[in-house]
Amino acid sequence: MSDSDVKKVVIIGSGPAGWTAAIYAARAGLEPIIYVGVPKQDPGPVLPGGQLMLTNDVENYPGFPEGVSGPEMMAMFQKQGERFGARIVGEDVERCEFDPEGKVHTLHTSDGKSVRAHAVIISTGATANWLGLESEMRLATTGGGVSACAVCDGALPMFRDQPLAVVGGGDTAMEEAHHLTKFASTVYVIHRRDELRASKTMQDRVLSKDNVEMVWNSTVVDCLSEKDSFGSDKITGIRLKDTKTGEERDLAVKGLFVAIGHTPATKFLRDTALSFDDAGYLVLPGRSSRTGIPGVYGAGDVADATYRQAVTAAGMGCQAALDAENDLGERGLL
Ligand code: FAD
Repeated sequence: MSDSDVKKVVIIGSGPAGWTAAIYAARAGLEPIIYVGVPKQDPGPVLPGGQLMLTNDVENYPGFPEGVSGPEMMAMFQKQGERFGARIVGEDVERCEFDPEGKVHTLHTSDGKSVRAHAVIISTGATANWLGLESEMRLATTGGGVSACAVCDGALPMFRDQPLAVVGGGDTAMEEAHHLTKFASTVYVIHRRDELRASKTMQDRVLSKDNVEMVWNSTVVDCLSEKDSFGSDKITGIRLKDTKTGEERDLAVKGLFVAIGHTPATKFLRDTALSFDDAGYLVLPGRSSRTGIPGVYGAGDVADATYRQAVTAAGMGCQAALDAENDLGERGLL
């Protein structure tokens, strides 16, 4: 491979972070290549376009006063990136050899090929963990009242003044439940054990609310649904199984929020010199997108366990492209 084959920027991942990085990099003349990933089921559904491909209603992304479906929004991101010349490859990056000096990084991809680049932007996201029920995923992807993000979906009209359930027992579940107490008539917190994993402060915050009810020693084994007046399936309840007695019972709810954690897509990076936190999120040591390795940047949910929103991911994608452009310029590689 000659030096002319070395790309200026390669972007890994095609959610809001990856596509925003692609738009900025393309407009700056960096001729980015974006590896959009292949569809897979690990640990939940992962699709080119990212986590928003699993949601029908995005109401909090600025610029869409009437809301927009996730797939529609990601198609627009892609169209905008392609308009400025971003090149798409429908493969995964499976292994990275990062050059400690940051001159030429080599990425090995799922088609058995490799690509070399001066700058690499990692925007592979964090996949929401799901329960793995057929009914759950069907209702989640069709606006049927199942979600993995209360901050994103809790304020939708369909959930207002309704009984809602949150599954999980950690801090994330408590945050989701706390958020939903503003909208729901009752928030049932379903937990498989008889005590929570969440910090005492988070527990107190939630348990002090009048409209929270704990459902201990229970798992969700099915989501029940009925067709609404428009003929679309909406959740009407969940089937619970007692983890001690095995007994099953139905609980009427109009929404289910699955809050059993996220898995950052960093497994393919583990044998590199990048740093990760205990949960596997990519660590960005400063107030920029730069990782510890020159020419390697992180953007979006893969490096952000706190906010995990489309708009914050897009903002981080912008930062990564600007950091890459700046660094390439300083190193005389533009
Ligand atoms: P992602 O969107 O996760 O995209 C990551 C991409 O990387 C994927 O395309 C994947 O295919 C690709 N990829 C992964 N590994 C590889 C690899 N090795 N090689 C190549 N590609 C790879 N946020 C909001 O702001 N508003 C909402 O209404 C909203 N609703 C949501 C509803 C649900 C059900 C869920 C789960 C999330 C929701 N979110 C919402 C959160 C939002 O989806 C995320 O914050 C956002 O998608 C993160 O963007 P990202 O680009 O960092 O990663």
